[in-house]
Amino acid sequence: MTMGTEKIDHIGIAVKSIDEKLVFYSELLGLKYEGSEEVAEQKVKTAFLKVGESNLELLEPTSPDSAVAKYLESRGEGIHHIALAVNNIEQKIEELIQKGVRMIDEKPRIGAHNKKIAFIHPKSTGGILLEICEEQLI
Ligand code: ZN
Repeated sequence: MTMGTEKIDHIGIAVKSIDEKLVFYSELLGLKYEGSEEVAEQKVKTAFLKVGESNLELLEPTSPDSAVAKYLESRGEGIHHIALAVNNIEQKIEELIQKGVRMIDEKPRIGAHNKKIAFIHPKSTGGILLEICEEQLI
């Protein structure tokens, strides 16, 4: 098994209403809708649309104090984060911290699809909220 970063797993897009935006992404654009899921910890509802090996992840806040709600308030709808798939997230976080990268999450948390995820601070990435994620085999 190679250690490293495998692919762009998904691109997270903040939206006010998933149902509304599904009309464009699924019906008009023709992407395959893979279902919705609520991530209680992050106070968002997510919907995944398949693009080859990657996905678009629509994010709709479920509470006004969700980070995505604050994002929508200050910047409006748009690209919220880019997620890279890694195959050992604990090790990757460790490496990044040792290299002086500023992490938002120094320990993985659980995101949509039961994946382990961690966010890297935009100060370290050129202004992009970058997520790393690892599929958990259960
Ligand atoms: Zn994500």
